[in-house]
Amino acid sequence: MHAVRKTREANAIVHKKIPMRQCVGCREMKPKKELIRIVRAPDGAISLDFKGKAPGRGAYLCPSAACLQKARKAKALSHAFEGPVPEEIYDALLGQLEAESDA
Ligand SMILES: [Zn+2]
Repeated sequence: MHAVRKTREANAIVHKKIPMRQCVGCREMKPKKELIRIVRAPDGAISLDFKGKAPGRGAYLCPSAACLQKARKAKALSHAFEGPVPEEIYDALLGQLEAESDA
């Protein structure tokens, strides 16, 4: 009994360390690793940050075309970055999602 309880506590501690982020499409909280990061660099350039390490303000999106469409309709990235987001960014995201679904 004791051993089981200890294992559960250990798992709980590990779980707490998983960084969670909110998808700008469905607004669900998900582990950061499962989301695509979109970053606005200090110079204002918006790009997809596949490594998750680029400097700047980040927004997160599920690797899901449905979430991308929601984000696009709601102009969620414009809200996240407090400025206009070019359509190319959404197109680039869509391209990335399609590339991922092939893999
Ligand atoms: Zn989502």
